Amino acid sequence: DKRNPNEPEFLQAVTEVAETVIPFIEENPHYNQAKLLERMTEPERVLMFRVPWTDDSGEVQINKGYRIEMNSAIGPYKGGLRFHPSVNLSILKFLAFEQVFKNSLTTLPMGGGKGGSDFNPKGKSDAEVMRFCQSFMTELSRHIGPNTDVPAGDIGVGGREIGYMFGQYKRLRNEFTGVLTGKGLSYGGSLIRPEATGYGDVYFAQSMLATKGDSFEGKTVAISGSGNVAQYATEKATELGGKVVTLSDSSGYIYDEEGIDADKLAFVMELKNVKRGRIHEYVEKYPNAKFFKGERPWSVKCDVALPCATQNELNAEEAKTLVANGVICVAEGANMPTTPEAIEVLQNAKVLFAPGKASNAGGVATSGLEMSQNSLRFNWTREEVDAKLKGIMADIHEACVKYGTQADGYIDYVKGANVAGFVKVADAMLAQGVV
Ligand code: NDP
Repeated sequence: DKRNPNEPEFLQAVTEVAETVIPFIEENPHYNQAKLLERMTEPERVLMFRVPWTDDSGEVQINKGYRIEMNSAIGPYKGGLRFHPSVNLSILKFLAFEQVFKNSLTTLPMGGGKGGSDFNPKGKSDAEVMRFCQSFMTELSRHIGPNTDVPAGDIGVGGREIGYMFGQYKRLRNEFTGVLTGKGLSYGGSLIRPEATGYGDVYFAQSMLATKGDSFEGKTVAISGSGNVAQYATEKATELGGKVVTLSDSSGYIYDEEGIDADKLAFVMELKNVKRGRIHEYVEKYPNAKFFKGERPWSVKCDVALPCATQNELNAEEAKTLVANGVICVAEGANMPTTPEAIEVLQNAKVLFAPGKASNAGGVATSGLEMSQNSLRFNWTREEVDAKLKGIMADIHEACVKYGTQADGYIDYVKGANVAGFVKVADAMLAQGVV
């Protein structure tokens, strides 16, 4: 695309949506007006800024800061901040574009955005992370607000970073508002928000399996990643009777044939969230498990695969191996972890496949519930939030079935999610005129 050179991830995300939405537009001429889809591919606003900060040795460091305000047709921009050395404009635009459709699917009034920095939190002291977050927010604070743009966490941005950024926003604005989600419970966070993406992914996979009269009971589950999403997907899949046998990080994956039960998961949470260690330390603690350096977990025999690490981490060859090993359901916990070629392999083999914009929407949905609670100045109980999350995931599944069921009964969740997400945003954009 001449308009977006050097943005392969963004073009990949747009192509995937266009392939399913253009045929829908052709069948429904009402949507073939005012360049709706083309307008959706151009961000309403892109912010790029300098983030200077001082490291512990007194040296000045400079990172790039970004916020993509993609679409506000149905609500304030909403989407996470990613701190990772790989962050660039293409990756954030792909994430922001996906976010528009995802947020639309949640049934809540949220537009789409995404942001972040090429800052690498690995190996940095708490004080360095704090100074970076304060500098990042000093600029970002001019552009966001509880009714304008409400960022959240993503890769490299968890409770610690959200806390530092919230503190800086409050200090600059002299305002206590729900301007960020994923906050700590003591200052406006919602119960179940940390769990929501992983739990939601498993609830969604549960609905997929139910279309075949099946469930997680007795299933072998392969999960990639070992961060926020992977951890809570492991917890919920295990609770529902599945046996999770893999976890990974950027150094490789571990395979535990006996299953990663609650005690072992507690060890992983401590290792990753507190000690900020590497996944291979798992096999030092549990010597029956094996570590595969530099590899991804898709060669393991499993019934259900939940990719929960990062984009493009499951390719066509790996998809063929999963199919040969009898996988029946793949539900993305990460954003765009499955390459387009791999999706084709899975769909041709009639494997149930859910794209992240549907199956990982539980995180942002619960962020939406956090915004509501902040506005109400009231907290719902754990059970109330979990019940709402379950209801939203079931509604998203239903929308995918409505728009994605094929003549032979196979549910194309990619088409279902894209079309259902598109319709709501398109209706709002049409009603609001060409702005
Ligand atoms: P975390 O930072 O908590 O964990 C990320 C995990 O993925 C880590 O295990 C990390 O390994 C691994 N990882 C990151 N980058 C790479 C890479 N380039 N190659 C291999 N492994 C990598 O992030 P989250 O769990 O929050 O996010 C995971 C995915 O889920 C992302 O795609 C995110 O966009 C998506 N997502 C997250 C939501 C949320 O609520 N948190 C909501 C919706 C989607 P290492 O420790 O080695 O870096």
